[in-house]
Amino acid sequence: MTRERLLTGDRPTGLLHLGHLVGSIRNRVALQDRYDCYFIIADLHTLTTKPRKEEILKARESIIEMVTDYIACGIDPLKSTIYLQSAIHAVYELNLIFSMMISLNRLTGLPSIKDMAKAAQMEDEGTPFGLIGYPVLQAADILGPRAVMVPIGKDNESHVECTRDIARRFNHLYGEVFPMPEALIGDVASLIGTDGKAKMSKSLNNAIFLSDDPKTVEKKVKGMYTDPNRIRADIPGTVEGNPLFIYHDAFNPCKSEVDSFKERYRAGTVSDVEVKMALVEALNKMLAPIREKRAVLLADKGYIEKVIVEGTEKARAVFDETLKEVRSAMGLSGTWNKLTRAAREYKGSADCA
Ligand code: ATP
Ligand code: MG
Repeated sequence: MTRERLLTGDRPTGLLHLGHLVGSIRNRVALQDRYDCYFIIADLHTLTTKPRKEEILKARESIIEMVTDYIACGIDPLKSTIYLQSAIHAVYELNLIFSMMISLNRLTGLPSIKDMAKAAQMEDEGTPFGLIGYPVLQAADILGPRAVMVPIGKDNESHVECTRDIARRFNHLYGEVFPMPEALIGDVASLIGTDGKAKMSKSLNNAIFLSDDPKTVEKKVKGMYTDPNRIRADIPGTVEGNPLFIYHDAFNPCKSEVDSFKERYRAGTVSDVEVKMALVEALNKMLAPIREKRAVLLADKGYIEKVIVEGTEKARAVFDETLKEVRSAMGLSGTWNKLTRAAREYKGSADCA
């Protein structure tokens, strides 16, 4: 029996952090056996906020590190397909077709797009058409392999909703080609940053990376934002919404220790430093096997490249099959087949090395 497909991925804008782990990576690893998984290296999405050549080259450099993180966390390239978005020509075509299936008002009303424009300081010069179309490109990613499951963080939920709208509209106009994908939000829908202000994000300088060494983890945790009213250990503190306890809940497997810290924190009988050092220990214990596996993988960069090249070739065949069906359902094949075939055979940036 063929398994249903799952799609998710990340923009290659830097290293993976704890937010990725709880928002999406843990679900990816857990679902690998149940679904036929596609993990996208979303380099075209990176262009939406980082269009400069030096930014593109930097993103290229991040790819190997990011895929190393995937595999170090337990994504198995023998079970799952890891591929480079920009090397799949069908994505560009589906993006254009799907842009006809959703209104501009629907896209401009999304808070996530405004947030991204703000974070990229793009508001003054005007939000690019491509950034407004971010969810349309994401629909091409999800519907290309006809995925039914999409494990993501909360900030991406509204985009999967757009994909569903696009699929619904397409099916209404041309017949049932696409299944309805479901978003699957991780255990922590949106992990707070070490600064306590926003979500942990590569671009906000508030992340603990999966590749950080033990000393760096310690330094970042020691500098974490906690209850600002607690200037001394004997002042009762607030646990709810406190990043220190959000992280303990998410990453410390010893629940009795966490419960005892919470009780003592509320009573003003434990110092922030003690709670922080226990978190450092829990994080370093969790990250140790990931670090070890990373080091082994990075010693053979050729292996990671091979994983991406093979995954991309496999994904390309799957996307091409969908595109063929899309064109046929729309009446874009047939009489003018020779011309459309020439268009399809133009492979664009097929070289993904
Ligand atoms: P950037 O700053 O470049 O936008 P990012 O850190 O926000 O990077 P993305 O590549 O945008 O990471 O996100 C990849 C996936 O990880 C998405 O599914 C997103 O929802 C999820 N994710 C990212 N950050 C978090 C977080 N702090 N908590 C939960 N999920 C997250
Ligand atoms: Mg983001």
